[in-house]
Amino acid sequence: MSDIIYLDNAATTQTNPEVYEAMKPYFDEYYGNASSIYRFAGKATKAIDDARETVANFIGAKSKEIYFTSGGSESDNWALKATAFAKKDKGKHIITTKIEHHAILHTCDYLEKLGFEITYINVDENGVVKIDELKESIREDTILISVMFANNEIGTIEPIKEIGQIAHEKGIIFHTDAVQAFGHVPINVDELNIDILSASGHKFNGPKGVGIMYLRESVKIGSFIHGGSQERGKRAGTHNTPGIIGFAKATEIASENMIEKSEYEKKLRDYLINRVLTEIPYTKLNGHPENRLTNNTNFSFRFIEGESLLIMLDQKGICGSSGSACTSGSLDPSHVLLAIGLPHEIAHGSLRLTLSDSNTKEEIDKVVDDLKQIVERLRSMSPLYEDFVKARVN
Ligand SMILES: *Cc1c(COP(=O)(O)O)cnc(C)c1O
Repeated sequence: MSDIIYLDNAATTQTNPEVYEAMKPYFDEYYGNASSIYRFAGKATKAIDDARETVANFIGAKSKEIYFTSGGSESDNWALKATAFAKKDKGKHIITTKIEHHAILHTCDYLEKLGFEITYINVDENGVVKIDELKESIREDTILISVMFANNEIGTIEPIKEIGQIAHEKGIIFHTDAVQAFGHVPINVDELNIDILSASGHKFNGPKGVGIMYLRESVKIGSFIHGGSQERGKRAGTHNTPGIIGFAKATEIASENMIEKSEYEKKLRDYLINRVLTEIPYTKLNGHPENRLTNNTNFSFRFIEGESLLIMLDQKGICGSSGSACTSGSLDPSHVLLAIGLPHEIAHGSLRLTLSDSNTKEEIDKVVDDLKQIVERLRSMSPLYEDFVKARVN
């Protein structure tokens, strides 16, 4: 599939070939169980120790504060549930936002059923969390604030440092779902006042099925997966050695090229945004105009359905994603697009294109050229558009 143009990097990324090479020996040569005593397993044990250190250094943490998990969803579940259970005697109130990933929102639904109370903070029209509302929602019994680092649909980067500071002034634990930011944006957990952080390998050119949870040493929460004594008794299960090595290799690569990569992506992103907004009428960019992930674009095209757009783009070999959740059997548009105030019909006509440094300007030109044609074609079939044009003429 070399003729595809892949613009869905917020969903998942290609595993870097160097990452794959680094992982391979841990499948076929050093397959020993990292927890075993014999020397044969020592290579894997040592590699996991080194991996943990690489990851810790990348975010200014200590090795013993990094726990390897199966990915972002597990880390989010662990962070929220274990904090809720550990602090329930202090209080049952949790604060989060309306634009979190479902790994957070559905975990909050579950905690609500168990008797916890959740406050969902609003965001402004750019997707930035309303800080005043967050401050006012803090109560005596608030035990946790969880705000995502960067949004996976519209790319907006949140004021994490400020939110962490607000939490700490009140003695509240601060968790951030940094799945979209880790490996893309510099992160230092001390500077940013982060207590718990979730990240996932496959969102930054690492392998799927492996993630981390950073847990500040002074924050005491229990384990989530019960069983063996791996990960210092906090996360049971035989180590996913290849995955962990791959995660660390992707981290190492990011620490070397993250800045350069994001500068490249940003140029391409801004070129794409500029062409779409100037060449396709009745189009809007969703998310913060500047303070957004360097690889994220999210557009709303009036009078059309995002789903039809995706299908027609796919016919041209272009992979994108829509803001609506029709494919998952629901007709509700994305909760994120509704939270930034888009009316249902405009949210339905949304398209997310997320880049990587493998994309080229030629690809972006082809995408915009195709997009122009497709949008025109879909609008020509839209009764809404017809009415709109008639109303303008009269
Ligand atoms: C992808 C994603 C997740 C889930 O991560 P997995 O590793 O796929 O479980 C969680 N949060 C955000 C913001 C994401 O983009």
